[in-house]
Amino acid sequence: MARKYDAIVVGAGPAGFLAAKAAGENGLDVALLERKSDPIQLTRACAQSLVSTNEYYFGNLLRYNARDKHLCFSSDGFSFKYDGPYRDLYNLVMYTPNGHKVEFGDYKELKKKGDNGRVGISFDKEALFQCLLEQVKTYNVDVFPGINVQKVTSTADSVTAEGSGQSFEGRYLIAADGCNSRVAEVMGFNKDRNYYCNFCGISYYLSGVESVEPDQIVKSTAFLKDGHAHLYLLPRPVEGEYNFSVVSIDPRTDLEAAAEYFMKEAFSAPWFRKAKQLRAFSAACNCYSPVIKPYKDRVLLAGDVGSTQELEITGAMISGWKAGQAVTTAVLEENLGLEITGISQYLDWWIKAYINYYNHEDYMRGMALPYLLSTNEEIDYLFGYIKETLPACWNPYTGSKAMGQGMAKVIPIIQKERPEILQKLQKRELPISQVLAEVTKISKPVL
Ligand SMILES: Cc1cc2nc3c(=O)[nH]c(=O)nc-3n(C[C@H](O)[C@H](O)[C@H](O)COP(=O)(O)OP(=O)(O)OC[C@H]3O[C@@H](n4cnc5c(N)ncnc54)[C@H](O)[C@@H]3O)c2cc1C
Repeated sequence: MARKYDAIVVGAGPAGFLAAKAAGENGLDVALLERKSDPIQLTRACAQSLVSTNEYYFGNLLRYNARDKHLCFSSDGFSFKYDGPYRDLYNLVMYTPNGHKVEFGDYKELKKKGDNGRVGISFDKEALFQCLLEQVKTYNVDVFPGINVQKVTSTADSVTAEGSGQSFEGRYLIAADGCNSRVAEVMGFNKDRNYYCNFCGISYYLSGVESVEPDQIVKSTAFLKDGHAHLYLLPRPVEGEYNFSVVSIDPRTDLEAAAEYFMKEAFSAPWFRKAKQLRAFSAACNCYSPVIKPYKDRVLLAGDVGSTQELEITGAMISGWKAGQAVTTAVLEENLGLEITGISQYLDWWIKAYINYYNHEDYMRGMALPYLLSTNEEIDYLFGYIKETLPACWNPYTGSKAMGQGMAKVIPIIQKERPEILQKLQKRELPISQVLAEVTKISKPVL
């Protein structure tokens, strides 16, 4: 017999926790189903930074209120306790393969401004999950770890999730099971999406990293023997620790060899001479065009489930919160015999705050440089001319605008010296499905 709830939330990530918290706080009976046997434990790679604290993101200015230890979302008016460690991040530095630096934001100037100068916040995701787990329990959310939802069936007035030998019936289900969502797949949400590729990564917590500013995000990129990879190095909020990630959308790339390259051969090798690996993680994420209408048959999608690849943690939390409010409104409306508007409010928000506001093709273009250029020398040449500091930015949707500002000034020089590079870059204007056609052909979605 299925246990009965007002709302079933599948997935206890940032989106699922916030959905469960919103619905629980509103007095609904909520079941939160999580595949991992320990909902707090982090198993998937994540750089664990809250993006874009110097710009609106999904309609909100994100603030960490350190005095009361709360993460606050200005426009949507919600907040929750986070009393784990954190560290302000003041700028992003992109290194070309030969070590030329392009800076997004003036590190020293921004650091002087303290909280008002940060572009992002490094935090501990396990501490965040611990806080959120405690908070959902205070709202009587029933948390079920170790439930791998495999099947979802709907009737006119209920929806049932089944997995790991158990069954849960709800009036609504919020699918927050991430970018490789089983719920989205079995409910047919992926049928109308364009599949592009997979974003794969490995990451390590490291101690003993030298020569990098402690409050800075570092990115680099390189062509390797078998493909290409990006390096991200972010300070952890724990003193002396860094989060080192190597990612690629090319399935031919050997990520462990790429990690070795950045640590032992590249210009960055001296940073890692004394580095010690403390923990290791991995990730493989489907990259699709977004779901335009994230609702069907009493199932509402939240967080990465309906996104290109990721809404980022901030976007996932906002969308989870909105989904929890939407389902609460719909349940109350049904109880009172009113017209159901809760779900359409969420759908309107999704279109306005995500689909129409951000261009998912720009997001994918951020990963597409290796399909435009073909050698490390070309990358060194192209970015070597950018010497000025670009606008401070840690936002995957607006980053290309900041870079465009730097490129505009150097294009006349490149046109004169290396017109063939400009010709290659022009391919960037094509639909992203054409830019990534080569990699799409050799990739397939993870289920
Ligand atoms: C390498 C890498 C680095 C990243 N770095 C950053 C960063 O610095 N900043 C940032 O903002 N974002 C970053 N992200 C993205 C970020 O991790 C996600 O956007 C965010 O976690 C999405 O939250 P979510 O709740 O939608 O999904 P997830 O965090 O994916 O949570 C989904 C949950 O559902 C559970 N689940 C899955 N399937 C089932 C099932 N069938 N049944 C039950 N439970 C299920 C999973 O175990 C998981 O707990 C990174 C991602 C990667 C891969």
